[in-house]
Amino acid sequence: MKLNNSKKILLNLLFKNEAYRNQLQKSLKVTPSTLSYILDNLKKKGYITVLKSESETVGRPKHIIKMDKNFWKSIGIRIGRESVNLTVFNGYFEEEEKISIKLTKNDIGNENISKILEKIIKKVSSLDKIKAIGIALSGNIDKDKANSKILKLENFNPHYIIKKLLPNTIVSLLNDVEAIATEEFVKHGGKKILVINYGTGIGACFYESRGIYEKSERKIIELGHFYVGTNEKCYCGATGCLETIASDYANLKRYKFSNLKIEDFILNEELYNNDLDELRNLHKTYEKKAQEIYNESFKYLAIFLTNIFKLFNPEKIILSGEGVTKWFSNELERKIHSISNFPVSITYRGLKNNIEFGAAVDALREYILRSNL
Ligand SMILES: [Zn+2]
Repeated sequence: MKLNNSKKILLNLLFKNEAYRNQLQKSLKVTPSTLSYILDNLKKKGYITVLKSESETVGRPKHIIKMDKNFWKSIGIRIGRESVNLTVFNGYFEEEEKISIKLTKNDIGNENISKILEKIIKKVSSLDKIKAIGIALSGNIDKDKANSKILKLENFNPHYIIKKLLPNTIVSLLNDVEAIATEEFVKHGGKKILVINYGTGIGACFYESRGIYEKSERKIIELGHFYVGTNEKCYCGATGCLETIASDYANLKRYKFSNLKIEDFILNEELYNNDLDELRNLHKTYEKKAQEIYNESFKYLAIFLTNIFKLFNPEKIILSGEGVTKWFSNELERKIHSISNFPVSITYRGLKNNIEFGAAVDALREYILRSNL
């Protein structure tokens, strides 16, 4: 797709939050008058806001250009096994509204997730202003369709639900690890990163950015289902997956429920919410016990992370998800350093709003690319 200068400007603002006139002029290689013409046009359409910078340099004040706060409203949705979370962002990417619905095993599957999705979107107060919706979930995404064992989704296509509610809204569907990687690129400049999403499942994504105007190279890695050689049958159909021995399921099994089976656990996860909370906080009160429980998981994660590191050579590893804490991140890094001479550094991001943010950015990117500018 050929990008014109208007789209390039909007993509710059989307990924960088704001830009100075002279920066845009340099990156687009246009004359000041051409830039003025394009900016005036974008301003007239309500797409951008031009603000005068507080700090005046010699000569005239610098102009900061931002996406218009009220025009670019977007929604990021995260569908996880535990809950569906929705955040409404304005054009400055401030959070305007947050809605969450807890899920039980009766809420999963195509039909039920569709209903929940419709329900949560209908709760948004300023629905008519929404330009784009990004939906992130754990599973495989193939164009418009999602397949997820954990959520029992088969060829799930959320577009028609959203088209029904919001006919003119752009929808983008992505894997939750891709959404985390997108956030990392936008907020922290991560250009070549490996993202690990750790909880009851283990997901990974290698993300290499080719710059603002080009689609980044993303490689979803089904880390949770890498073979480790145990005898336990996994919910994915295979036997001996990493999740059976190194996920929060495995930690929980070592902590309290030695007879637990992964398929039962995935189906009835909500029954274990309190135990999971306890487990994830155990290091605060009883660190030695926590180390004993997590030791096996750290070992296997260290093996696979160092191997993936050798394959892709990322700048950093981002650790995110419900199952990780600062303690977890430090211990895992220590384990990796004890077995590997690679300079693997782990950046702990925990569970902030990164998935919804990344999903919303992805959807707005799609909106800009498809707009008639
Ligand atoms: Zn598996």
